[in-house]
Amino acid sequence: MLRITEIFYSLQGETRTTGLPTVFVRLTGCPLRCRWCDTEYAFRGGDLLSIEAILGRVSEYNPRYVTVTGGEPLAQKACYGLLSLLADQGYEVSLETSGAISISEVDPRVVKVMDLKPPASGESHRNLYENIGFLEKKDQLKFVIADRGDYEWSVSKIIQYDLANRVSDVLFSPVSGEMSAEILAGWILEDRLPVRFQLQLHRMIWGDLPGV
Ligand code: SF4
Repeated sequence: MLRITEIFYSLQGETRTTGLPTVFVRLTGCPLRCRWCDTEYAFRGGDLLSIEAILGRVSEYNPRYVTVTGGEPLAQKACYGLLSLLADQGYEVSLETSGAISISEVDPRVVKVMDLKPPASGESHRNLYENIGFLEKKDQLKFVIADRGDYEWSVSKIIQYDLANRVSDVLFSPVSGEMSAEILAGWILEDRLPVRFQLQLHRMIWGDLPGV
């Protein structure tokens, strides 16, 4: 059984599959409290669903892409089995994870989209750096940046861990309403960083509504 906040079909708002129709399975609960979190409604509540029921709900949409997200999905141990069973169905499965819980047991067919939390998140002490060793070339690494300090910290991690050569995409996102997209884009171009700049497409279309 897994505690689930929502299962919905929408356009992927982030990552390298941005814009593609995707089923999202949002697991309830997260041990972190990022200062700028936009999914606080997933911290508690939710419904207990069997893995069979979750697979049934997903299959109703007949999707190509399925994203397991949260909250922090790996905080529920049964998430590992769900990921494998989704991959068994032939879906292209991705996992969005905070980087604070080990990804070593995640099914290798799953694309991991892992955060490294910069200082202004208030949670950078939770980064589990040994996770970087479990990232593969198909995976993606995300930095959500609130200010110049976060930017410089993120650049230092890219250099220290050779991140651009380790994953398919290093993603830089501005904290909504706090970090100017234009300024962040300018810094990336000025420094010729090998990163993919991204804005949250779903929020541009639908604002802060849950379930989209
Ligand atoms: S890890 Fe994700 S869900 Fe958890 S507090 Fe941070 S942004 Fe929110």
